[in-house]
Amino acid sequence: MLKRLALRTLMQPSVGRLLSRLRRDRCAIVMMHRFAVPESARPGHDPTRLRTLLAHLRSIGVSLLAVDEAVQHYAIAGGHGSAARPPAVAVTVDDGYADFSDVGLPVFEEYDCPVTGFVVPDVIDGKRWFWWDQVEWALLHASRHRLALELDGNPLRLSWDSAEERGVHHRTLCERLKGVDDATRQTFLTDLSQVADVPVTSDMPTAYRVLSWDELRSCERRGARFGPHTMSHPILSRCTESQSRDEIVQASARVLDALENPSRVFCYPNGCTQDFGAREILALRSTGMMAAVSAVPGLVRPVSIGTDQDAIWRVPRFAYDDRHGVMPRLLFL
Ligand SMILES: [Zn+2]
Repeated sequence: MLKRLALRTLMQPSVGRLLSRLRRDRCAIVMMHRFAVPESARPGHDPTRLRTLLAHLRSIGVSLLAVDEAVQHYAIAGGHGSAARPPAVAVTVDDGYADFSDVGLPVFEEYDCPVTGFVVPDVIDGKRWFWWDQVEWALLHASRHRLALELDGNPLRLSWDSAEERGVHHRTLCERLKGVDDATRQTFLTDLSQVADVPVTSDMPTAYRVLSWDELRSCERRGARFGPHTMSHPILSRCTESQSRDEIVQASARVLDALENPSRVFCYPNGCTQDFGAREILALRSTGMMAAVSAVPGLVRPVSIGTDQDAIWRVPRFAYDDRHGVMPRLLFL
């Protein structure tokens, strides 16, 4: 009850405005993914709730910044004699799905909120689907609902009688597939496609469509920016050293070359502590990027010269949460 009361108090505009004046130099980068599309059952961020959150942040004096500015002002310049800055939020959206321009961007435009997407060139170029979409597609269209497979040398049996059970298999499989190397995952996807009798076509189904380069450039003209998220979205720490380097260097070069106002912030796939390390940071230093964001929760901290030289390549992000009062609490408490 105390927690509910605290959250309600935080949502009071007068309390928020007071905290905005007191809690200077705080900056939260927020990580979003897919947006809910009207008349689609696919879960996603609700644009109405996003509107409410952005309106609230604006009304209490929180700055809404692009992630490049957030990194520049609160990590690189922060703590080095700069004047105290108002609290800020930077919004990022991973993976570059088409619902970003149709559903998300109109809301960001309405609130004059800068937004940065992180994109995956091989998917944009139609060379592959995101692997989690491949898994979902195979389960959705399987000719049988009893499948016997192998994953990483272990037998795996899947059976379902309802959409809910199928959804549980999808989530569980995705978690397990994050834990194997790229080649093992690829073998599993090929097997799944055969056993389920669902071929992966070169035409990506509408539900999984990502924005084309032309569409990304047209979003740029509406104020969005885009940074690299690797070439093919592997978990970098599970790649060989040269694969990991190519994923980082090629994606950064491609995004810098193809877009008009590219973000110089890189985003690690999955982005947990164990998903990248020193060799990824070394590769990033040669790319023209100025920072990288993870999915490790935390506020943006000033990067202290001489203490942790790599902190700028491990900038934390909070998962987006539009529940009442959660974002102000992350920012202020
Ligand atoms: Zn991603």
